[in-house]
Amino acid sequence: MFTDSHAHLTCDPVFSELDDILKRAKEQKVDQIVNICVDKVSLQRGLALAEKEKWIHNVGATTPHDVEKEGSLYFPLFEEAAKQGKFVAIGETGLDYHYEHSPKDVQQAFLVRYFNLAKECLLPVVIHCRDAFEDLYSIAHENFPTGRAVLHCFTGTMKEAEKALERNWMISFSGIVTFKRSEELRTIVKAVPIHHILTETDTPYLAPQSVRGKRNEPSFIHETVQTIAHIKGMCLDEVAQMTSKNAKRFFKLDEPISN
Ligand SMILES: [Zn+2]
Repeated sequence: MFTDSHAHLTCDPVFSELDDILKRAKEQKVDQIVNICVDKVSLQRGLALAEKEKWIHNVGATTPHDVEKEGSLYFPLFEEAAKQGKFVAIGETGLDYHYEHSPKDVQQAFLVRYFNLAKECLLPVVIHCRDAFEDLYSIAHENFPTGRAVLHCFTGTMKEAEKALERNWMISFSGIVTFKRSEELRTIVKAVPIHHILTETDTPYLAPQSVRGKRNEPSFIHETVQTIAHIKGMCLDEVAQMTSKNAKRFFKLDEPISN
């Protein structure tokens, strides 16, 4: 009934403990996980994992942090997997001007390449955006005008959220909504219509307040869903079901993945 729409299951350090992590996820009624592959190893592991675990779905791209070093190297691998129907979305791609681990122009060039790949494969895009919304929206306007996208781990402003909604994009909230100081973000959760909301852990990062600082995992999604339910004045089950339905619709999780 719960969906973790963004977890790095096949990256280290999670992968070595994956059996236990997936067992706990099942015990906590997490029945859909979107796994984000970011390089060759996490992609190979992800493709093998999805073969045996039908409730786990893959998405792939080089992150904006790493496009300078690895973007060209791995693009053909992600392209091949996408064209073979192995992905439910392209990503995470985007712009991160906060850390700027890769130069802005390189990040922008790869964002465009991934938008084009998504259009070609009729897939949505998982977007990572930090301190770069103006450029993100102008690049999307030019290159992905009618495409479907989710802003993962949203931490922007109300205005930036409104612009996503104008584009009919989804907004995904992580454990950050549970943090004590996230008052502004909770105001945004309140304003975003429930059918535009996805929930995620961003495992292994961003564990929610009660386990803050620990290695995150999909079973911890409850706390985030509970916080959203509280803000919305809804019950936990209702929010879990609605956000899971949103993920199914957005990623088309019910459609069989081709081989
Ligand atoms: Zn991520």
